[in-house]
Amino acid sequence: MKIFNTLTKQKEEFVPVNEGKVGMYVCGPTVYNYIHIGNARPMIVFDTVRRYFEYKGYEVNYVSNFTDVDDKIIKKAIEEGVDASEISERFIVECKKDMEGMNVKPATTHPKATEEIGGMIKMIRTLIQKDHAYAVDGTVYFKTRSFPEYGKLSKKNIDDLEAGHRDIKVTGEDGKQDPLDFVLWKPKKEGEPAWGSPWGQGRPGWHIECSVMSKKYIGDTIDIHAGGEDLIFPHHENEIAQSEACNDETFANYWMHNAFLNIDGEKMSKSAGNFFTVREISEKYPLQVIRFFMLSAHYRSPLNFSDTLVESAKNGLERIYNAVDLLRDRAAHGEGTLTDADKENLAKLQELVDKYEAAMEDDFNTADAIAAVFEMVKLSNTTVRTGSKEYAANVLATVEKLCDILGIILEEKEDVLEPEFAALIEERTAAKKARDFARADAIRDELAAKGILIKDTREGVKWTRA
Ligand code: AMP
Ligand code: ZN
Repeated sequence: MKIFNTLTKQKEEFVPVNEGKVGMYVCGPTVYNYIHIGNARPMIVFDTVRRYFEYKGYEVNYVSNFTDVDDKIIKKAIEEGVDASEISERFIVECKKDMEGMNVKPATTHPKATEEIGGMIKMIRTLIQKDHAYAVDGTVYFKTRSFPEYGKLSKKNIDDLEAGHRDIKVTGEDGKQDPLDFVLWKPKKEGEPAWGSPWGQGRPGWHIECSVMSKKYIGDTIDIHAGGEDLIFPHHENEIAQSEACNDETFANYWMHNAFLNIDGEKMSKSAGNFFTVREISEKYPLQVIRFFMLSAHYRSPLNFSDTLVESAKNGLERIYNAVDLLRDRAAHGEGTLTDADKENLAKLQELVDKYEAAMEDDFNTADAIAAVFEMVKLSNTTVRTGSKEYAANVLATVEKLCDILGIILEEKEDVLEPEFAALIEERTAAKKARDFARADAIRDELAAKGILIKDTREGVKWTRA
């Protein structure tokens, strides 16, 4: 399996730290509002990566945090006059509802930053002891220049960064020894949530969260660290510096970053009026359509969200649903075991399974994997009517398995009887009541000729399709 590694800028063969296991950390959302449609992209993409590893037999330890202490959460809490925890708890619940709607599996662990403060204090202490960090008036900074490899992920040269930073002075950060240094711990401000620490009351910086939570729930070296491409710098660069300076181990072997989702060709922004939450979109489209749409492009390509493109994803998904309906019908009502023709068609189906897997093994190319599913749908539609019951069951199981990797739910639709047949059944019941058995039998034969078989039971008339 090949993964494009942001660190080396090439596709590399995946070799896990522990055989048969994958430890994956995906940076999660800051919970101060409903998640937006851009946030949905990494959730769907990396959930699909996880599902593919599971399909290949790996045991996946999937960790994704909730950033539940942050300036934006505090701002919203002040506006509403409530506790910051009330805001974050509310939007964690809402985020989980959206995830369920998009069929994103719950992580093995969803740590919350506020529940991991002890671990963060411990890591910051180690960094100070190792001379990678220093405290000034209740603030702790990471000494960026103490980590010689700083910039290796984002391919930034530290001296260029220095030049860019020279004029920037952030208020409250006057004690910095070097403009490149970043905050690990910040002192309490009035009205803000705070925890006790060796440097006084305060709260952690954002980057330290992920270094601590991935170490605790996965280990010093994780297989895959993932998130949106905006996180490469400074967030992931800083995570590497903190973790490797603390643990003296490689932090993550593979770095995966999804490209951004744009709306009608423009960057999503509240001020431009093209900002949509997943909740808003769910009123217009089923979230299954949104999931399918997200996977219709490669995760490293920018994706444009427009009604036309979502409609086309909707039609594509409909084609799969229809093929599955037909397969289910033939698997239930067809007859016989595999014929020679069926066997030939199953060999063709296997070639498409190989094609699907080859696409996924090539840096999770879901676009090509979906193309293979469409080819299967075409093969199925042209062969299943003349194939045996066993053939239909085989094709159905394969399509269901491959759709499950993409997180596409193929719910069984309730089979509703056409109104004209329902009317005939009613007429037959009335005829029987009036002891007009000739008419009742004639109606039964007429229905049978049209493919509807009826049976009188104690609970009333039951029907099946021939
Ligand atoms: P945030 O809550 O802003 O930290 O974002 C949570 C996740 O969503 C991160 O992995 C971001 O990189 C990702 N993300 C945010 N906006 C977009 C977007 N427009 N397209 C794709 N991913 C995004
Ligand atoms: Zn993170």
